[in-house]
Amino acid sequence: MAEEFDVIVIGAGPGGYVAAIRAAQNGLKVACVESRETLGGTCLNVGCIPSKALLHASELYAHAADGSLAKFGVETAGVKLNLNAMLDEKLAAVKGLTDGIAFLFKKNKVTWLKGRARFTGKSTVDVGGTAYTAKSIVIATGSSVTPLPGVEIDQKVVVDSTGALSLPKVPKHLVVIGGGVIGLELGSVWMRLGAKVTVVEYLDQILPGMDGDVRKDMARLLKKQGMEFRTSTKVTGVKVAKGTAAVTVEPAAGGTAETLEADAVLVSIGRRPNTEGLDLDKAGVVPNARGQIEVGHKFETAVDGIYAIGDVTPGPMLAHKAEDEGLAVADFLAGRVGYVNHDVIPAVVYTMPEAASVGKTEEELKAAGVAVNVGKFPFAGNSRAKTNRDTDGFVKVIADAATDRVLGVHIVGSLAGTMIAQAAQAMEFGASSEDIALTCHAHPTHSEALKEAAMAVEGKAIHV
Ligand SMILES: Cc1cc2nc3c(=O)[nH]c(=O)nc-3n(C[C@H](O)[C@H](O)[C@H](O)COP(=O)(O)OP(=O)(O)OC[C@H]3O[C@@H](n4cnc5c(N)ncnc54)[C@H](O)[C@@H]3O)c2cc1C
Repeated sequence: MAEEFDVIVIGAGPGGYVAAIRAAQNGLKVACVESRETLGGTCLNVGCIPSKALLHASELYAHAADGSLAKFGVETAGVKLNLNAMLDEKLAAVKGLTDGIAFLFKKNKVTWLKGRARFTGKSTVDVGGTAYTAKSIVIATGSSVTPLPGVEIDQKVVVDSTGALSLPKVPKHLVVIGGGVIGLELGSVWMRLGAKVTVVEYLDQILPGMDGDVRKDMARLLKKQGMEFRTSTKVTGVKVAKGTAAVTVEPAAGGTAETLEADAVLVSIGRRPNTEGLDLDKAGVVPNARGQIEVGHKFETAVDGIYAIGDVTPGPMLAHKAEDEGLAVADFLAGRVGYVNHDVIPAVVYTMPEAASVGKTEEELKAAGVAVNVGKFPFAGNSRAKTNRDTDGFVKVIADAATDRVLGVHIVGSLAGTMIAQAAQAMEFGASSEDIALTCHAHPTHSEALKEAAMAVEGKAIHV
């Protein structure tokens, strides 16, 4: 007899492990299947956490090494990079957090089934030759790196995001293929540690999908730091010989080809949903043309008793989106009401400065014919940012012209990723720009720039 559970969650990333814990908190008997050695999925093992560990460490190094602390009376000399120590510290962060999930599974009595799951029927899965059944099965298998046809990833010279988190030495020249979030974050890490970084982007601008003002300002600021951009350019091939890569590029619209020599190439053109090997056909689940599993309001698939959340479903591939869907599906499974507002999912680029967005971009609203009022406030007018010599960036609040309801907030700034939470909360409560403008913000903080941008919607910012 197959062991029986109320819920089997496949995948222990931020979607799956959160769903499993919440379902157990809700009194259900839960198993979570994970094929990695450690829990936490892409996010904790090879995504959000290790990339942020390296962004933090490389920023400390850059500040110490480039003499920029001297103006604050902190003189440094003989600053040296110990890359091994930096990489060890990243691993320590990953280990601490992935072990933490194992602890939480034990605490909440979630059974970890180690191995790969594949469906053998609508309510049965096989893990390493053992059959398990459940009333409900949640697919939370996440995503993996999209390969670039004709470019072989050897994880030595040509790496994906996982390889770029562990380069054994700082490359002299790193070519990043793809000017999205992951390419810019990991490009920033190695640039701060001394690499020349060239980003090749097919589109005419970096950071596709973000607000136009953010895209422009981020390109300007990253260029100022030394990052080179080859936009409207496509990579047609990468050849590796004797530890060096020859990256052939040509204008996206066609034209003369040229070759970029690099000792490391990062392929970061996107991620694709993980459905291979799941034997979805045995359960009757059919992915859409993009390989994603479509779901309804309760995260239910077209097959009774089978649900899906996180990167394997449509929508932004973000850890917090996966987590919130994990909470919601587990509440639905326990007969409660789950809730995720997919219109208010913040997105953050953790470069320096950071870029953060929530809601609609100005371009999206214009295309939809929505009349808006826009308030912008530069950090150059914020007292705390000025004091800290941290004046790059701005806050932009977009409000409906008829109702003043906030439809989008976009921030470039050192603390943008933290500040965007306030904007998301305001939007979740249906705030108007006036509501934000009338909210008392502590002084002196970067957050006052959000209040000023909200006041600027009416053309009445004070400090600009
Ligand atoms: C370099 C990088 C940086 C990132 N930074 C951020 C960031 O700062 N913020 C952010 O929000 N997002 C970030 N992301 C994206 C984020 O990691 C994902 O959106 C998130 O992990 C998705 O969660 P998930 O639970 O859907 O899937 P995953 O985290 O991908 O987890 C799925 C798990 O399922 C397992 N699995 C798959 N198939 C099976 C099977 N058949 N049987 C058993 N187990 C299986 C996999 O091994 C995996 O562990 C980053 C991604 C990368 C690559």
